[in-house]
Amino acid sequence: MASPSHRRSLRTRRTVLASTAAVAAAGLGAAVFAMNANAGAVDLAHQVLPAKDGWAASGTGTTGGAQADSAHVFTVSTRAQLVAALGSATNSTAKIIRIKGTIDANTNDAGKKLTCADYAAGTGYSLAAYLKAYDPATYGRSKLPSGTQEKARAAAQAAQAKNIAFKVPANTTLVGVPGTNAGITGGSLQVKSVDNVIVRNLTFSATEDCFPQWDPTDGSTGNWNSAYDSVTLRGATHVWADHNTFTDAPHLDSANPKYYGREYQIHDGALDITNGSDLVTVERNQFTNHDKTMLIGSSDTDSVGKLRVSIHHNVWKGIVQRAPLARIGQIHIYNNYFDTTTLNGYAPLYTVNSRAKAQVVAEYNAWKLPSGGKTAKLLSGDGTGSVATTGNLVNGTATDLVAAYNAANSKKLKTTVNWKPALTAGLQTTAQNLATELAGTTGAGVLS
Ligand code: CA
Ligand code: CA
Repeated sequence: MASPSHRRSLRTRRTVLASTAAVAAAGLGAAVFAMNANAGAVDLAHQVLPAKDGWAASGTGTTGGAQADSAHVFTVSTRAQLVAALGSATNSTAKIIRIKGTIDANTNDAGKKLTCADYAAGTGYSLAAYLKAYDPATYGRSKLPSGTQEKARAAAQAAQAKNIAFKVPANTTLVGVPGTNAGITGGSLQVKSVDNVIVRNLTFSATEDCFPQWDPTDGSTGNWNSAYDSVTLRGATHVWADHNTFTDAPHLDSANPKYYGREYQIHDGALDITNGSDLVTVERNQFTNHDKTMLIGSSDTDSVGKLRVSIHHNVWKGIVQRAPLARIGQIHIYNNYFDTTTLNGYAPLYTVNSRAKAQVVAEYNAWKLPSGGKTAKLLSGDGTGSVATTGNLVNGTATDLVAAYNAANSKKLKTTVNWKPALTAGLQTTAQNLATELAGTTGAGVLS
């Protein structure tokens, strides 16, 4: 039988345990609160970019559609519903669009599946006729395709674009409903010349151009070029892309045929940030099974003073190049995990490319290099771009990637930059555990 003092000590112990639990709960709450000023009190769809979380937190910050009234909170699960919810590209009324399940962009307003043949119908385009018309053996390699079949191809491509390209207006949040495998397959979200957009918890898959264009003047052997990025930012400002997954699946590049000896590439970028886009935070996404993953700046003459992008806590796995290809802007790349093992035929050429005077700060990232891989090939550049590095690891070992690249290349990367990142919420000053940590905290489907 317990003595009164023993009972008292049990009570005391229970009280201590209870208050420890309360403190732990409060501590967790505080941590969540610190991550997002509104988390805990606010549902996923209404959350805004936390303070100081990368370039998109600059100035007015990024709130997307958080201010939407109840008439402008939509839940959509078909292409037609998505189009209706987006409304006019110039309507800047705050809106939240919750995507439930996977929306197939290649469907008509009645939900019927559309094929490439449906888009080509009535245009006169056929791949066989196109290949015959522009065969380098007869058409040569000096000029772009023109004439009947090229006109027909462009018309068919325009028909597909009308169906699969979704223009996102200002002050919009697009968010996947947790637990529904939310995403868009076959589509292209286009954020053009608008401010304040949030894209979260969505899987973007199988963005495919039915009508690639042959360009015999692209490189020494010509190239097939496609038109659609899964998400494309042009002249867009204050954009937060968070916890999304980007993949070519299920049609991987290894299944692409070759015509005129060149890969018939049906994919373009995963997330391209071009034409003077600015103040973008790309966070906790997964980029996988893709070739040209992220372009920052569309050419070496894209806008000076813009293209400021923060890229942190993302996983890049099974990508060939452009992770990212950075031009001109002040770009902060931190706490990312790059797995450069060849995956499903996607064999990495390089990860980060700094060119056209890009001012890249790359710190506390981790690279996995397979056996036989070369550290000197992890970066790329044109001799004018900078990459300032701190705390990066290759296979768990502190490594100066720029020194390795510069030792092997004549067009050296510069090692100093003209800025110091200040909007760095969540920056961890070690890359040691990123592979494990990011495996369970990135991409679509982990937010609730
Ligand atoms: Ca392209
Ligand atoms: Ca693109």
